[in-house]
Amino acid sequence: MKERTLSIIKPDAVGKGLIGEMIKRFEQAGFKIVAMKMVHMSKKEAEGFYAVHKERPFFESVTRFMSSGPSVVMVLEADNVIARNRELMGATNYKEAAEGTIRREFATDIEKNVVHGSDAPETAAFEIGYFFNALELVGV
Ligand code: GDP
Repeated sequence: MKERTLSIIKPDAVGKGLIGEMIKRFEQAGFKIVAMKMVHMSKKEAEGFYAVHKERPFFESVTRFMSSGPSVVMVLEADNVIARNRELMGATNYKEAAEGTIRREFATDIEKNVVHGSDAPETAAFEIGYFFNALELVGV
């Protein structure tokens, strides 16, 4: 079943010049990019995005990181893309990520882990709506 997910190329990856490398990996995986833009989130916007984590000890740190520079946000579409993108990204902690995954190759710590991908259909719907309106999604 065709599905959509929100992907973010995080500020660490943008800073290291990895935008093209990430897009290449998504396209080679067969994911269609149906929306894309560059954003520099404010601290408040990052807090809104990660609201589900507001009780976690790393909330302050991760929202500071996510607002530290520009990110590229995009909507990817493919069959089963939520799980497939999570697989391509690898585990949150790059030390536990499988060989060949994005995070294993490019992450430098558990926080600066290069990419974000929605983890379920409900979170994907919230996260896509957080950055894009219907007119910005190709093919709707
Ligand atoms: P994800 O779905 O794999 O991105 O992981 P989570 O939803 O659990 O965490 C959201 C983001 O918070 C992660 O991608 C990391 O950037 C950051 N993060 C997760 N765990 C930790 C942690 O223990 N310490 C710090 N500093 N950041 C973390």
